[in-house]
Amino acid sequence: MITATEVSWRYGANPVIDGVSVTARPGRVLGLIGPNGSGKTTLLRLLHGALRSGGAGRSGGAGAGRVVVDGDELTGLPSREVARRLAVVVQEAGGADTALTVAELVLLGRGPHLSTFQRTSRADHEIVARCLARVGAAHLGARAFAGLSGGERQRVLIARALAQQATHLLLDEPTNHLDIRYQHEVLQLVRDLGTCSIVVLHDLNLAARYCDDLVLLGDGQVAAAGSTDEVLDPAVLEPVYGIGIRRLDLDGAIHLLFRPHEVTQERTAA
Ligand code: ADP
Repeated sequence: MITATEVSWRYGANPVIDGVSVTARPGRVLGLIGPNGSGKTTLLRLLHGALRSGGAGRSGGAGAGRVVVDGDELTGLPSREVARRLAVVVQEAGGADTALTVAELVLLGRGPHLSTFQRTSRADHEIVARCLARVGAAHLGARAFAGLSGGERQRVLIARALAQQATHLLLDEPTNHLDIRYQHEVLQLVRDLGTCSIVVLHDLNLAARYCDDLVLLGDGQVAAAGSTDEVLDPAVLEPVYGIGIRRLDLDGAIHLLFRPHEVTQERTAA
């Protein structure tokens, strides 16, 4: 379980996240949604400790609030322990310049489970093979990571996070670069893991299908939080996104239709 209480972040005088509290519960998928620039990525980075207040060479920002992971404050945990608890797939992971093969890169995910001079074992290599297979990338193991397409890279980075076998999984736009089939497969995989997961998602229909709970951010604050059913209410979404939205509930599933010609007052004025 991850609990953030009143977390804030600002760059200079510019507040990006402002007094946000969120809870990600065991066995559930929490989606972070909101318009561009609403603070989703920044919040996710705060939740895994990638942003720390500090001076030159660090993030250049300043923050406040607490993040607690399974009862322990994140800032008090050694980095190896953080990596056992939190596996992260972020956009800026890059790797384009690495000389590693796909299998070698995924093997890095085993790092938090090895002691300082311990070599990887056959079991570690088996975990790597299993994780690659789970994301449909078993055939890529011997390829150079740098030579993969964006979608292939994304799946490999998810495999590395799976190999880490952490108790929580945090993903920033994991469906970026993926075609429709893999968008669904990756999110279904996240669901099937049964791990406490936090996913930044742009696509509200994917959020509808794969998230149990949602936090809707607007201008760095929580505009709404609750079950997916509660948050995906046009009356809640429209003022935040500034676009007309219609919701259809078909066979127990939520579908949102967007009506750009019905631009709402709030965003027009912004
Ligand atoms: P989202 O993920 O919802 O698109 P972000 O968290 O990426 O939003 O960004 C939120 C706001 O913070 C944006 O206005 C963005 O320009 C600003 N921001 C993000 N990173 C930096 C940075 N390193 N320096 C200054 N401003 C930043």
